[in-house]
Parts: sequence; structure tokens; C-alpha cells
Amino acid sequence: MKFNYYIPTKILFGKGQLSNLHKQSLPGKKALIVISAGKSTKANGYLERVEHELKAAGISYVVFDKILPNPVKTHVMEGAALARENGCDFVIGLGGGSSIDSAKAIAVMAANTGDYWDYIFGGSGKGLPVPVDPLPVVAITTTAGTGTEADPWTVITKENTEEKIGFGYDKTFPVLSVVDPDLMLTVPSDLTAYQGFDALFHSTEGYINKAANIMSDMYALKAIELIGKNLALAVENGGNESAREMVALGNTLAGMVESTSSCTSEHSLEHALSAYHPSLPHGAGLIMISRAYYTHFAKRGCCDERLITMAKALGKDNAAKPMDFVEALVELQKACDVDNLKMSDYGIKKEELEKYAVKAYDTMGGLFEGDPAPLTKEDCIAILEDAYK
Ligand SMILES: [Zn+2]
Repeated sequence: MKFNYYIPTKILFGKGQLSNLHKQSLPGKKALIVISAGKSTKANGYLERVEHELKAAGISYVVFDKILPNPVKTHVMEGAALARENGCDFVIGLGGGSSIDSAKAIAVMAANTGDYWDYIFGGSGKGLPVPVDPLPVVAITTTAGTGTEADPWTVITKENTEEKIGFGYDKTFPVLSVVDPDLMLTVPSDLTAYQGFDALFHSTEGYINKAANIMSDMYALKAIELIGKNLALAVENGGNESAREMVALGNTLAGMVESTSSCTSEHSLEHALSAYHPSLPHGAGLIMISRAYYTHFAKRGCCDERLITMAKALGKDNAAKPMDFVEALVELQKACDVDNLKMSDYGIKKEELEKYAVKAYDTMGGLFEGDPAPLTKEDCIAILEDAYK
């Protein structure tokens, strides 16, 4: 038995926790608040509530409100420049995964010179060490999807080269995260489903991963169970507080899976799709790939017991064969009304599938090393062809 465990984030979890922000020892005196370019963070009053908390704590702030659903490097550099100009000494990511991931990347670039891609491993990234520690990050989640509040990862797209690559290390964990399910009650049903499945796949990929260990297994199985029992309820009725709370917990646990195990190539393949097609939500892309992806491993017989255990965690008590997991997965997708998502609806063409397989290797080849059996380029193309609608 062997594992490395490091999750240095203080997490305030539960209904109403945002109101306790001002009582925390915050990691600076002036914050850059990073939010999305969409209307919801302001319209739902979340920004105002955070501003109110900061004022109560005697903290000043500047707001950066340009983040896109698939966040881009240009905004990382812009946000970092704004933080430096205003003398911000910490960064708050308020919103979904895109805002919090951007906050992490901005925190790196606010403290360092050069270009963000200098520090990226994979693709055209230079893979240089980060010379100066990033500014501290506070994460306040308004969605249950990426688990970024409990992991060091940030995923950013470099626009002109269609590269969407994850980055993170021990210093990019948030120092403090607020997971208040009340802030998630307004997420529309389709996004609730996409984000919930993203969290599910962080757990399932972490569980079949070669890097899985006793700690990550514990988090993964509980996350799969919580999401399996509650996601369809949250999709059906966004105001279902207990379902929202349980999916939020599943998502935070899934972030812990990413901190103790890793994603597999399912994420590399999806990042390649949404790097070329930024209108494709990450979770939707994963859902499109998933049936074919897990069927491939089920047929190869490389992780039978693990697939059966995950099927049971998803509620299929009598699961006895690897394909039972795929069945349980598709049932959950049907219950959440996302079993019919089509790549073609997002402009992905069947004759281009090889391009995405190549891109997945080029930009996020590292995740393939965690796969329960090696995937060749031909395997990836076959999975994408099987998944294509
Ligand atoms: Zn993800």
C-alpha cells in the first residue's frame, strides 16, 4: 500500500457557509475577484454577497469579469496584469470551474513574468518551473462540476493553437474554499447535468486509474454513490436542496479524487474536442465520449472488478459483469435527459475524428499513462467513431 496525500485547502461546506466568509482569516488585504463574463454571478446577487463579506472583513477588491465557459489564456494574462496594477495580494475565484480555474492561473501569472504557456507541460508549452509562488487563491463555487475547489488543477485554452491543457502543482490548491449549495440552486437543468457528469467522471477515471489507491478509492466510491443517487433529482428540480447538497458533496469529493489519483484519457479526448469547439461544454463532451470509452475497457477485461464495483456504487446492486457499469451509466444519462447529446450539433465532423485523437496525445498525453490498459491512436479513433452521433 502506497499513497501521497496532500490537500491543504480549508473547506467551508454547507448551506449558508458564504455568510461565514468574513469571519475567516483571509490570505491578503486586497483581492482580485474573478467572475465569468455571463450575467448570472451578478444577477443572482452572488457578487454582491461576496463584496459585502469582504467589506465586513476590511478587505478591498477589484473585479475582473471576462471569463468564458471554456477559459482562455488571453484572459489569464489580462487578469494577472490587472492584479499587478492594483496591488492585489490574493485572488478570489467566484463561480463555476472556469472562474476558479482562471483565478488559479491568474494567481500564477500575477506573481511571475513571461507567458502562462511558458509553464505548461504538453503541446507548445515550454514546461519551465514556476519561479515565484502564486498568489493565494480563495475559491467560492456556484456549480458542482469540476471539483477545482479541492484540487490544484486549472484547465486553460490557448486560442490560436486550439490547445486546452491542465496545469497545477502543490502551490495552486486554493487556501480556502466555500462550497455553499444554496449558490447552486439557480443552475439550469442542462448545466446541472453536464457539471454533475464531469464530477462523476473525475471519480470514475480516478477509480480505474493505475494511480488509484486506498485514499482515492474511498473518495471516488462515495462520490459515485452520491452523484448516482442525487444528480437526476437535482436536474429534475433545481430547487431540491438536499439533492443539490449531495451533488455538491460528491463534486468536492471528486476534486479530492483528482488530488489523490488522476483523470484518464477520457479527459484528454474531451479537451481536444472542446479546444476546437469552445461552445461544447466540457461535461457534455465527456458524456458524448463516455459510453464508448468505458465499453472499450469493459470489453478489454483490464479492470473488470473496478467496473463492477462502480456499477454497484451507481446503484446496480446485482452488478456482476463489467458492462453493467456502462448500463448503469447510460441509465443515469437517460434519467438526466443527456443520453442523446450529439457531437455533430457542435460542428464536429466524423471525418475529422483522427485530428482529435492526435491532439489528445499531443496536448494531454500524460493522462494516457493512467489508463487501465494502453490506448493506441487507433483505439482512440475507434472510441470517437463509436461515440459519434
Ligand atoms: Zn473535468
